[in-house]
Amino acid sequence: MLNADDPILLVEDDRVDIMTVQRALRKNQIGNPLHIARTGLDALDMLRGQHGQEKISPPPALILLDLNLPKMSGIEFLRALREDPELREMRIIVLTSSNEPKDRAAAFEHDVDDYIVKPHSFDEFSRAIATVLTLWDSSET
Ligand SMILES: [Mg+2]
Repeated sequence: MLNADDPILLVEDDRVDIMTVQRALRKNQIGNPLHIARTGLDALDMLRGQHGQEKISPPPALILLDLNLPKMSGIEFLRALREDPELREMRIIVLTSSNEPKDRAAAFEHDVDDYIVKPHSFDEFSRAIATVLTLWDSSET
């Protein structure tokens, strides 16, 4: 279970998907501070506090990551994160419309905690978010 104050960072470019995640969190009464980055580059800036972005503090307990992003793909973002000594331990759940085995394999090569294919219906989506976040063990490293 996440601690109530732990920030979550959502990296997602699609407006509708952002709203769906917000709605699913609300529906499951998960009120953690939610930060939203529309690109991987913005997410890195928010995590590092660079290029005019305020640093997310405390650091997010969890990153929800879309893979299909403009400028820098989700996999490229993962690579950059794992190469950064300050960010390499971040815990990440991929939330994607891609069920491609190669995307899944590339994500797990970068040590993601979970890989969720976005369900089509809101109820399924909401259940998937609830399952992941209520089973979440924030003490695990
Ligand atoms: Mg996308």
